[in-house]
Amino acid sequence: MSKIKLLEDCVYELARLPSIGRKTATRLAMHIIRMNADDVHKLASRITAFKDNAVFCSVCGGLSESDVCPICTDEYRDKTSICVVEEVKDLFVVEQTGYFKGVYHVLGGKISPLEGIGPDNLRIDELIGRIAADRVKEVILATNPDVDGETTATYLARKLKHFTELKITKLASGIPLGTHIEYADEMTMLRAIEGRRQV
Ligand SMILES: [Zn+2]
Repeated sequence: MSKIKLLEDCVYELARLPSIGRKTATRLAMHIIRMNADDVHKLASRITAFKDNAVFCSVCGGLSESDVCPICTDEYRDKTSICVVEEVKDLFVVEQTGYFKGVYHVLGGKISPLEGIGPDNLRIDELIGRIAADRVKEVILATNPDVDGETTATYLARKLKHFTELKITKLASGIPLGTHIEYADEMTMLRAIEGRRQV
């Protein structure tokens, strides 16, 4: 404890962010005090503006500045091909490859009995609704290659089986087991999509 309350308050808030421990928070706070005041204010106001104005797309669950995101409103994107991801950050990784021309569906997590997350906590009904409404031809399951991600993919594949015309595919196993999609480089992700196989 530094006994400087202003510092302690700042460290406390920073340390609440994911993967930031007290040590890192203190280092960041000490960096902030040395920063140009305008830059610090810009940082604070951009965080606030992001929080106040960015929303989740009402269709795909991706990040957006309006009710429906630019990908969902893009008439050149193929609405009959949906790539299903766990989180928005995974969408960014797939999108970065520039290969996939369909649309996305963000589940908002994965089935995790240990964390008490079941299918009802995910945006699965919304996905089913879109498949029926847009006559979707292919669903690419791009969940993470870990136990919960695999469980989620298996659950979805079973749940979507009754759409007899629907092709259900899964990313190729190019992504090393246990590695999260968010850490996959562009080439690895590209190969994983290109080499996707039917389930
Ligand atoms: Zn969207």
